[in-house]
Amino acid sequence: MIKKIVLSILLIVFISSNPTPVSATAYYDYDTINTLIDDKNFEDAYKILTDSLKESDSDQKLKTLRLILEIDNLLGDTDQLLLHGLEIVDSSIQNNSSFDEMIGYYYLGNVYYKLYDDTKALEYFEKMLDIANRYNYELGKGFYHTFSGLISYSYEEYDIALESFVIAQSHLEKASLDDDWIFGDFLEDNDLMLSITKSLVNDPVEIQIQTIDAIGSSYMEANWNLKLNALWESSFVLNKLGAYEKSVPLLEEAYEHLQSTNFGDLYTNLQDYLKYDLAYAYYNTREFQKSSELVLEDAYDYDIKEEVNRSELINEKLRALENRSIEAESNRQVRIIGIVSAISILLILLILIIIKEYFKVRLLTKEVYEKSIKDGLTGLYNRMALVDKYEKEISSKTALAIVDIDDFKEINDTFGHLIGDEVIQKIAQVIEHTMAGVGYAGRYGGEEFLVVIQNTEKTNPWDIAEALRLNVESISWSFKSDPITVSIGLLCHSKSNFDEGFKTVDSLLYEAKESGKNMTLSTDCKI
Ligand code: GH3
Ligand code: MG
Ligand code: MG
Repeated sequence: MIKKIVLSILLIVFISSNPTPVSATAYYDYDTINTLIDDKNFEDAYKILTDSLKESDSDQKLKTLRLILEIDNLLGDTDQLLLHGLEIVDSSIQNNSSFDEMIGYYYLGNVYYKLYDDTKALEYFEKMLDIANRYNYELGKGFYHTFSGLISYSYEEYDIALESFVIAQSHLEKASLDDDWIFGDFLEDNDLMLSITKSLVNDPVEIQIQTIDAIGSSYMEANWNLKLNALWESSFVLNKLGAYEKSVPLLEEAYEHLQSTNFGDLYTNLQDYLKYDLAYAYYNTREFQKSSELVLEDAYDYDIKEEVNRSELINEKLRALENRSIEAESNRQVRIIGIVSAISILLILLILIIIKEYFKVRLLTKEVYEKSIKDGLTGLYNRMALVDKYEKEISSKTALAIVDIDDFKEINDTFGHLIGDEVIQKIAQVIEHTMAGVGYAGRYGGEEFLVVIQNTEKTNPWDIAEALRLNVESISWSFKSDPITVSIGLLCHSKSNFDEGFKTVDSLLYEAKESGKNMTLSTDCKI
């Protein structure tokens, strides 16, 4: 029973720590996604991922969501980022995946960062950091410091930003990135910002222009995301520094990079923003023709109504997010309380069973002990127990007697052994009854009993022995009319040990038998 309980506790602990069986099944070919991204075919990659999301089991689902979120983030699609961010947080809480929950908060923080709500963004990044610290995820710690850096950077507090990027760097270098990312170049992204900021903090303006131009240009062969970031960020800084002629080629390269990417129907505001930056740079390099073409082209495309609808949708979802994260937190607490109370109940049961078993064993031990000191036929102490007890309390104030049934062999022979047994039992009862409060008795063997009597002013052993003899004599028997009697050898003041005392009472008994039976004999009692 105890084994079963222990096993079920282990099982519960196991189930609660591994709520989802890990599946090795992939629903799409990961290499295909990578190849599509290399070919700048975001549309197809995204479609495969979002289609497979519907069929994924929970483990695969979390991985797929991460890939989708990476793309949402790159496209700047706050709508989808929010939806998928919420979904990954929900799923990871359900599946006890702290890592994915952390990633979820990372992308939710990104939503607010993109919407310029830094306070809200930091709230999510702090939730992310909390998990990162709890489970020691270097990636989450790195993300947190990268974003702290980016926020300071956006306020042009470059030296504070630089410190954050340096801290982020040390964490990201330690982060182990598995293959479950499309881009995964978080370290390089941070490194880009670190190099730019470093120059802004340390270099004079002319050197800044050269350095940042060189940084931007050095990412031409980098992967899709990193290349876009490097070109765009460095040209943005160059524009700020007034080096428009240097920012134009970088922006043109970035624009070309975007133009050759297949976004299909996917929403992205990247082209719009980049177009403005490029038009602005053209304007400043006095290339008005190119500048106005870009802006005009954009003006025709711009649909104010759609923008308004999008921002309303986002606001609505943001409100839903608030409610759901509160709900998720309380659901999580309910789940934890559930597991804890299940384990507590089992532990209590286990303790109760142990207590029950303990008392059973104690009872059993007591039973065995009592059996070991009692005589089976009469229930009186057996010889060994009585001698033991007697020797422990031996003093001149204890009297010892031996009681022997007279002519018992005759009873056995005449009425049979069963009747003989009954006689022994009945006489044992009478002895026990007579001794109540004044002493105790045991069966020495056969039809002989040992009796220990207190020798005090109130209890005279001689009187008690005589009372015992008379009590036996007055028993009426069903199988014979005349009485059955006993002879008693009595020592009123015990000797130093049992053997000494026994020798005396045994010889007194012998004398009593010789002198006609049914009598008590003593040499040291007050009569
Ligand atoms: P005395 O008056 O001299 O004591 O004579 P006695 O017949 O009582 O003594 P004896 O020692 O000759 O016989 C005792 C008999 O008790 C012998 C034995 O078979 C019988 N006996 C011993 N233990 C038991 C028992 O547990 N049950 C029964 N029925 N008989 C027993
Ligand atoms: Mg005998
Ligand atoms: Mg006898």
